[in-house]
Amino acid sequence: MDINKLIRTNIKNLKPYSSARDEYTGEAMVFLDANENPFNEPFNRYPDPLQRKVKEKIAAIKGCESSQIFLGNGSDEPIDLLFRAFCDPGQDNIVTIDPTYGMYQVSADINDVEVRKVKLNPDYSFSADALLAQADDKTKLIFICSPNNPTGNLLSKSETIKLLQRFSGLVIVDEAYIDFAPGASLLAELNQYENLVILQTFSKAWGMAGIRLGMAFASPAIIQLFNKIKYPYNINMLTQQKALELIEQEADKNQWVELLINERVQLAENLKDFPFVEKIFPSDANFLLVKMHDARGIYDFLVENGIIVRDRSKVVLCDDSLRITVGKPEENTILIEKLKELV
Ligand code: PMP
Repeated sequence: MDINKLIRTNIKNLKPYSSARDEYTGEAMVFLDANENPFNEPFNRYPDPLQRKVKEKIAAIKGCESSQIFLGNGSDEPIDLLFRAFCDPGQDNIVTIDPTYGMYQVSADINDVEVRKVKLNPDYSFSADALLAQADDKTKLIFICSPNNPTGNLLSKSETIKLLQRFSGLVIVDEAYIDFAPGASLLAELNQYENLVILQTFSKAWGMAGIRLGMAFASPAIIQLFNKIKYPYNINMLTQQKALELIEQEADKNQWVELLINERVQLAENLKDFPFVEKIFPSDANFLLVKMHDARGIYDFLVENGIIVRDRSKVVLCDDSLRITVGKPEENTILIEKLKELV
């Protein structure tokens, strides 16, 4: 893969904005360079534009280099940056699976990029050949999501590797839910495939959706490109501080993940005997996709009773299915008790 051939010409030629904090990063006695207010410390200062301390910690727990990490305002930010860096509006296209996470389509639409969707197999697996068959010389990106949202299943590692080996553009593997499928991340392959981009997030297993922090892992060349086009201070100071604190508490995250995986099993067990439950799809994530008789009716009944799940019944291959996030044990019990009233 030649990344220079993939990048949009205007981005290749872009002279990025250089902020005061890009030009001088050390310790100084007096900062009079950024037109900040000298009062109201520490919030008066701009945050580190490259989030060096946070990246050092992430690199240590993920076993990669800081230069292979991009941090975004949620993983939705690198999704958008991928389009802006690589896809010429009105000309290029991407290939992805169907159904999958909705933001690939939304970002593509915003950037006026065609999306070629390949339906998953009935068991929600995918075939690399089917995706590659849709790709042409205008295909810049292939998006895979594993575990996939909303189907919940991990996608085949060997099929993903096949994509990485045969596709000359970038293969994006969205691993937002990977902590719930232990040992399955493709991060270990990062050094081997320069066309691999892995997305992860602090919004799920880490319990930090509110601070908006997403990660992209890729070759230093791709990370530098993202840094060139992102907003200069895309991660605010409060988010960086909170992330530094919470990453220290990885043990909590691991406990939550273990508990939620157990709850997922328990929830599936409790749901399976309801007469209106037709199928519970196997899940490697923190949610269950459940096919039900009259899913919409059950959704409305739950909403009336203050319980909100996600109605996915209009989504391709998800007819009559609800996506139920695994909650705390007591929340899952409330759901089950409420559903008993329907029997
Ligand atoms: N990828 C997938 C597959 C998701 O389901 C989500 C959130 N629902 C995201 C990415 C975005 O996560 P965030 O922007 O919170 O990092």
